[in-house]
Amino acid sequence: MKLSFLGAARQVTGSMYLVTLDTGYKILIDCGMDYEMKKNPVSRGYLFPFEPVTIDLVILTHAHIDHSGNLPALTAGGYKGSIISTPATAELTSFLLFDSANIQWNDYRKNLANTKKTRREFIPKPLFTEKQVQECVDQFLTLHLHKPFKVNDQISIKLIEAGHLLGAASIELSITEKGVTQKIGFTGDLGRTNSKLVKNGEFFENINYLITESTYGGRKHLVEKNPEDELLSYIQKTCIEFRGRLVIPAFSVGRTQAIVFTIHQLKQKGLIPGWLKVFVDSPLAIKSTPVYERHPYLLNEEAANFLRTHGNLFHFEGIEYLEGMDEHDELLKYYDPCIIISAAGMVEGGRIQEHVTNNIENPYSTILIAGFCAEGTLGHRLLQGQSSIRIKNKDRNIYAKIARTDVFSSHPDHDEVKNYVMNAQEKSGDNLKKIFLVHGDVPQLMAMQADLTAEGLGDKVVVPDMQEDFYL
Ligand SMILES: [Zn+2]
Ligand SMILES: [Zn+2]
Repeated sequence: MKLSFLGAARQVTGSMYLVTLDTGYKILIDCGMDYEMKKNPVSRGYLFPFEPVTIDLVILTHAHIDHSGNLPALTAGGYKGSIISTPATAELTSFLLFDSANIQWNDYRKNLANTKKTRREFIPKPLFTEKQVQECVDQFLTLHLHKPFKVNDQISIKLIEAGHLLGAASIELSITEKGVTQKIGFTGDLGRTNSKLVKNGEFFENINYLITESTYGGRKHLVEKNPEDELLSYIQKTCIEFRGRLVIPAFSVGRTQAIVFTIHQLKQKGLIPGWLKVFVDSPLAIKSTPVYERHPYLLNEEAANFLRTHGNLFHFEGIEYLEGMDEHDELLKYYDPCIIISAAGMVEGGRIQEHVTNNIENPYSTILIAGFCAEGTLGHRLLQGQSSIRIKNKDRNIYAKIARTDVFSSHPDHDEVKNYVMNAQEKSGDNLKKIFLVHGDVPQLMAMQADLTAEGLGDKVVVPDMQEDFYL
């Protein structure tokens, strides 16, 4: 069989890997949007280096757009088969894809309005419509964790807990060719140990090939307090001592729920005063939050116990979920101390950009960056320690406190990924032939490769290139 790296190779986004059996049967693992593509995918002329109609099966690790975002383009382009994922991933992906279609169409309309007539034909069109998203969603076939699924005599699939996001799975793919069975483990995105809400990830056993993420290769998460203490110290300083606003940019799915749940825990312990309002300004968060309570079997012990005791995870006195733009506009004029959680995490556009703009020149406000910010994003620029910043063609002084925390990071750091790989090595021994490092920027991948080489795995570790093929 052949394994082809078609995305997230030597970069973070656009996860997409193709396994082609000797018979020609093609299995696509993930079909993510590539945020790092230098050229616009439309102007490049193709999104996929294959005909969608030639794919036989798709398996999705988890809902994040860098893994799922091109699925509607794949199905609209002719793929008519099943998309296998866990039930929670299917639900969350559906919300994220509709949201993505919406964002693309809004951007397109804005671009049209701001471009001269003669240049309008060069504006990239949205990749898909809402109708095409619905058609794509209809092709999902759900598979629970730990339930092996035999596709045919040659192929079977097992999903295990990845510990990254509700429903996120690592994929164990067993392929039998000429009487020999080989097992390939795709980690998808992994999580940290003891994350909020989700369980710890599980390890592969006895695999022949490992394809692992290495987002934070070479980096160590700051040694920190637990999430409750960390968040409480920001809340106390900003909202109670300084009577200011704590603005937290957070992705609507995953990070927002982890933060809201932590605030709920603090409330239950009586550590946050009743008068302090918490605003979640994100329609997508409103849609995706109930998915957590619909799949309680996926929650870790702490969250499951909390749910049993208090009846819910994300609703408490003082929290308000804002859906409409009118509510959002009202919040922009709310000047009492409060916590504002809004999307997206990297502060690129969206409602959060307005909250950041609204608070950046206020010395009483704190903007707490709680996740990974890719270079070039406003979130990344905020963290550079400058005294002023340009937002939407206007220079603004930075008087607000800009802070950063890793406690809600949904990716493992260097040591955690290394331990994961060493565990796979221990449980697989000589059967493990190759370890492919993906889903990381080049310095991160190189740091991981160097460390694994120092551990004696140099012969096995590969950092594949985009479009590189390997015969397994
Ligand atoms: Zn992810
Ligand atoms: Zn990812």
